Amino acid sequence: MMNFHILTLFPEMVMQGLHTSILGRAAEREYISIEAVNIRDYTLDKHGKVDDYTYGGGAGMLMQAQPVYDACQAVQERLLQRNGANAGRARVIYVTPQGRTFNQSIAQELAQEDDLIFLCGHYEGIDERVLEEIVTDEISIGDYVLTGGELPAMVMIDAIARLVPGVLHNTDSAVTESFGDGLLEYPQYSRPEVWHNKKVPAVLMSGDHAKVDAWRMEQSIMRTKERRPDLYEAYIARMERN
Ligand code: SAM
Repeated sequence: MMNFHILTLFPEMVMQGLHTSILGRAAEREYISIEAVNIRDYTLDKHGKVDDYTYGGGAGMLMQAQPVYDACQAVQERLLQRNGANAGRARVIYVTPQGRTFNQSIAQELAQEDDLIFLCGHYEGIDERVLEEIVTDEISIGDYVLTGGELPAMVMIDAIARLVPGVLHNTDSAVTESFGDGLLEYPQYSRPEVWHNKKVPAVLMSGDHAKVDAWRMEQSIMRTKERRPDLYEAYIARMERN
């Protein structure tokens, strides 16, 4: 079982989003577990405050170090108790537009872990000093700025969780899909055979699996060349090396 721990100021947002459909079923069947830890529960401020103005001026509020640190420590200590002192500390991923950009191979790498802690910023972000102490990985979902880290954490958890054995019914699909082998996936069709005068490609109706596989590979390569020349070039270079 893979366990996701999300440090956030908006636990209901991530819990609702991640307990739906395939991931909800996977959690019920205990292939994965998802817990949201409310950073506000750890503030020592008597009014429950978790943010303050930034030193040096500038618009907006910054999440303070203390509650973030204590929330993270609480999770790490719980994991150490569960796994034993030799198990090592779980990776802590700060989702931030300043991190390396998330992709399928990062998802594959992270899917090997037993526990992952996601730290979601909000407002202007988080005091740098606590990031320096607790964060092992900084990862972005793309070159744009969102209001908070909850959606990025959900995006990453979704992509990682579906690689955990048992989460998808058909384990093949995680491999043949886009990016699984460095190519985009081929086009797919379902019933009816004719829709808006468009017929399903004849080869898919032939029952000849070798032909179907060859057609799909060809389509994958063509599609990747057309839509993602960067991936296509990397694919060709890989083929030439092998
Ligand atoms: N001031 C920060 C900066 O310029 O780097 C941006 C703060 S953003 C408004 C608030 C929070 O949203 C961040 O702390 C981060 O957790 C999250 N966030 C925003 N955009 C993101 C992205 N593209 N990828 C991952 N996390 C993001």
